[in-house]
Amino acid sequence: MKQFSVALAGNPNVGKSTVFNALTGLNQHTGNWTGKTVEGCAGVFSHKEALFSVTDLPGTYSLSSFSREEEVTRAYLLEKNFDCVVIVMDAGTLERNLSLALEVLSLGHKAVVCLNLYDEARRKGLSVDTKQLSAQLGVPVVKTCATKKQGLDDLKNTVLRVCTAEQAPSLPSFNCKTDALLVQKISREIALRCVTETNEGNKTERDRRLDKILTSKATGIPVMLLLCGLLFWITAVGANYPSEGLSALFEMMKHELSALSEMLAVPKFLSGIIIDGVYTTLSWVVAVMLPPMAIFFPLFALIEDSGYLPRIAFNLDRFYYKCGAHGKQSLTMMMGIGCNACGVTGCRIIESEKERLIAVLTNNFMPCNGRLPILIAILMMYFAGSGFGLGSSLRVAAILLMILVFCVLFSLFVSKILSLCLGKKVPSGFALELPPYRKPQVIKTVVRSFLDKTLAVLGRAVVVAAPAGAVIWLCANLQIGEMSVLKHLTNALDPFGRFIGLDGVIVMAFILGFPANETVIPVMIMAYLANGTLSDFASYEELLRLFTQNGWTLTTAVCMIIMTIMHFPCSTACLTIKKETSSLKWTLLSMAIPAVCGVALCAVVSHILPV
Ligand code: GDP
Repeated sequence: MKQFSVALAGNPNVGKSTVFNALTGLNQHTGNWTGKTVEGCAGVFSHKEALFSVTDLPGTYSLSSFSREEEVTRAYLLEKNFDCVVIVMDAGTLERNLSLALEVLSLGHKAVVCLNLYDEARRKGLSVDTKQLSAQLGVPVVKTCATKKQGLDDLKNTVLRVCTAEQAPSLPSFNCKTDALLVQKISREIALRCVTETNEGNKTERDRRLDKILTSKATGIPVMLLLCGLLFWITAVGANYPSEGLSALFEMMKHELSALSEMLAVPKFLSGIIIDGVYTTLSWVVAVMLPPMAIFFPLFALIEDSGYLPRIAFNLDRFYYKCGAHGKQSLTMMMGIGCNACGVTGCRIIESEKERLIAVLTNNFMPCNGRLPILIAILMMYFAGSGFGLGSSLRVAAILLMILVFCVLFSLFVSKILSLCLGKKVPSGFALELPPYRKPQVIKTVVRSFLDKTLAVLGRAVVVAAPAGAVIWLCANLQIGEMSVLKHLTNALDPFGRFIGLDGVIVMAFILGFPANETVIPVMIMAYLANGTLSDFASYEELLRLFTQNGWTLTTAVCMIIMTIMHFPCSTACLTIKKETSSLKWTLLSMAIPAVCGVALCAVVSHILPV
């Protein structure tokens, strides 16, 4: 079997990942915004007795190495050996896409142009003369609509033909830094020759009208806040029912398990570690963490797929700019809501070193998916009011929204300070591309986000929570002198904990939550359980009773919220920061900044608020 290697290159947001997935059957994350793929991704497919290995390169606007993605793509195209490059282009914005295409072609590789998003171009009333374009560029051009898997066979055939052909296309070589104007001029001429506008598409008009509401100074931010509030509200309301169901189910199973272990005369120590340690922690993680994640992430993914996220970045840009940070930081912050490690990696989309560093150091102020459920749980217990009716869920959503706004404002404040400390340099401007709105692919997006994010995060939580449950149970039950190991530890931390409005157990839970924040509450439950009694541990009312028994007040809850949004990043995020900054100093600082802020704020708040 013949083997070929193929590189996929193109501007951001032209459907490269979708083409890659359609070719290889892999499930690279897709999303309607710039800067999503920051690292290459590899896969294989076979076609007509030939095996192709495909590398999806990060989307870039040019090869001039201004940003990290450009560097990755440029280095790959210049240094690696491959048989053919597929240049993926957006058929609807041909002129803008041509600059990169010309630069890539000028490197002299064998190439195929994949004219993707053809359906969208048609809806806009545009038609591209592919024969003419192919003649102008000297390489074959194939129309595709990757989401509907149209044109892919044609693409595979063409790639095979080009890979087996002898000659590489020859185009004049450009120096993209010095010849930028020339490249632009040629692009414009080619686009004029190849694109015809059949009618004024009503799609663009609709986009313009939507943008007037979603990005204008007067309505942009209020609409954004409303949408986020709605998202939180649906999450808070929706999560409650499955949570209750799951917790009842786990409780029932726990009784069965205990009965079984008694029947089999399993030693107390063993049944303790398995049922009260591992099982209890795991069922908490599943019952309380899974429902909000299963609702929040698919909804967030739908918003992402519709093209709204870049509008949020657009709305927030001026605030970031004023704080000496980069507008793109708002995008990386949003990635941080999913996972801070992803947010930190995403900071590569920021070209300037200083602004990228600011974005990396402040990403942890966004509560990731390991911390959102902690916030929801605390809010449900202490701020929902009595019962869980419409009023209380609205209140929880509103407070969650306020917390998020606070996180953004605080990250802006820290960005400003960092920007002053890192030296006065004018933030570099940025051209944020506002992609067209797209009807999200509901089923695919929901299923993918559930599998990719919800289950992956849950899997990670379970992997960490199971051993954590066992360890914490052991600590709670092994005695040194009069007291358990756990009691010794929490007692030692207690004075510090009390000083910042918390207690020793909470501080220890955050320390033990370093591998994954998901275990913070289960650790607290286990630690408190050593001196309290709790039957139905996963219901908020029971949890509230347990916490109150252990001296929690409203002030404790407020400080707990502060600590949740401001403490050191989890181990995965820290490793990612180390990788991205290649510096221990910045990694340690990224841990110290939120932790110091959190401790200071908790200390102040706990002394101001009445107990
Ligand atoms: P990348 O940034 O170039 O990797 O782009 P993605 O593969 O993430 O795609 C960006 C968005 O365009 C996603 O919402 C895709 O579902 C959508 N998309 C990709 N290809 C097509 C297409 O041919 N037609 C339409 N209508 N949408 C597409």
